[in-house]
Amino acid sequence: DTQALQRLDSAHFLHPFTDHAALRKRGARVMVRGQGIYLWDSEGNRVIDGMSGLWCVNAGYGRTSISQAVYQQMETLPFYNSFFNTTTVPAVRLATLLAELAPPQFEHVFFTSSGSEANDTIVRMVRRYWDLMGQPQRQVIISRRNAYHGSTMAGASLGGMDGMHAQGGLPIPGIVHIGQPHYAQEGQGMTEAEFGLHAAGWLEQKILELGPDQVAAFIGEPVQGAGGVIIPPVTYWPEIKRICDKYDILLVSDEVICGFGRLGTWFGCELMQVQPDLITFAKGVTSGYVPLGGVLVGSRVAQTLIEKGGDFNHGFTYSGHPVACAAALENLRILIEEKLVEKVALETGPHLAATFAGLASHPLVGHAESCGLVAGLNLVRRKGDTVHDCEHFDSAHAVGMICRGHMFDNGVIMRAVGDRMIVAPPLVITKEQIDEMAERIRFCLDQTLID
Ligand code: PLP
Repeated sequence: DTQALQRLDSAHFLHPFTDHAALRKRGARVMVRGQGIYLWDSEGNRVIDGMSGLWCVNAGYGRTSISQAVYQQMETLPFYNSFFNTTTVPAVRLATLLAELAPPQFEHVFFTSSGSEANDTIVRMVRRYWDLMGQPQRQVIISRRNAYHGSTMAGASLGGMDGMHAQGGLPIPGIVHIGQPHYAQEGQGMTEAEFGLHAAGWLEQKILELGPDQVAAFIGEPVQGAGGVIIPPVTYWPEIKRICDKYDILLVSDEVICGFGRLGTWFGCELMQVQPDLITFAKGVTSGYVPLGGVLVGSRVAQTLIEKGGDFNHGFTYSGHPVACAAALENLRILIEEKLVEKVALETGPHLAATFAGLASHPLVGHAESCGLVAGLNLVRRKGDTVHDCEHFDSAHAVGMICRGHMFDNGVIMRAVGDRMIVAPPLVITKEQIDEMAERIRFCLDQTLID
């Protein structure tokens, strides 16, 4: 029964990113089943999963063809590794399919089991690349404040979250941060287009401060997810690319959230119209059914590693795990066959944008933003004429967490990042289901207003 499970959970399970004192008081919600965009808890309540689990269940819950593919692969060959000149059929097939789906010049993939491992991998890969190019002093990787790139030592260092850096002596040496392209927070007095160029300029300033010949790479998410759905102005990414090219710095696109259709393109860098050198991915590649991640390696780095490289002394027991690759193959088949990426671009993405624009009329909402199937609502004490002249809640008010609590109790899961309420629903969501979700959100905004 639920209470017994909650007691055992509290007694034995140390959860990630969780305040355990608060969890003990309330008891963990036990999720037991999922279908499409819906989850059911152990008390029989049905919830709309507005966050696709952790931004990952792109194909929706209850896909029996993925579980069958996993079962069959487990029966045939549950494990073999890809070290020392061996491979497996699903790993080869998946690498080939990913090369087809990725932007041009991405013919190679390095597999991991998570996004954190993928981002760890790029730290070693770009430094190895510069070693092989005869520029071993190029060690520094530039990232952005408030970014999330994972929880391993390198992933959390690449990330720009103060709360993470404060625990464990991070960032590790050789990783530095610049500001994020957050127009509402930092773009006062500028148009969005001007601000995009201005924010990209922080990269150039940092490169000049460090010395261009010390810098190995820049990493960023096309749309920053866990940082609060920060959608950059259209001028930002092309300017970042221009600066990277000017100083011959590798560009890494972290597509752990944006990859596999979230923004209405297979990869977010395609929407931003830039060609990176490396792409990290995880989550949506299997819709979270089985852990899998990796790095898509563009021709510049791949050719160097292959032709000049010898061993790349890096890898994981589960790099190219055949069961995970079988899950990914079936998941990607579903995304392709059901045209889910096109559906986000042409149908559900625009509908979510219009629906959230409608929610922006609520007295508690300063403004709404969306891109593909991610969207955010900024909660404010008093609305303004522009995004820059709203009156904000003080942080002690924790309005986001209050609102999230109402959502949770009223059948819709949203994430609160500070005062911003976020959704990233499964790509299978229909227009009618977006309307159903919005109705519940409006009700919960009303409840938060009463509080
Ligand atoms: N990069 C981004 C952009 C993420 O959002 C995440 C996870 O949320 C990661 C990396 C880390 O991925 P994982 O949790 O699979 O290690």
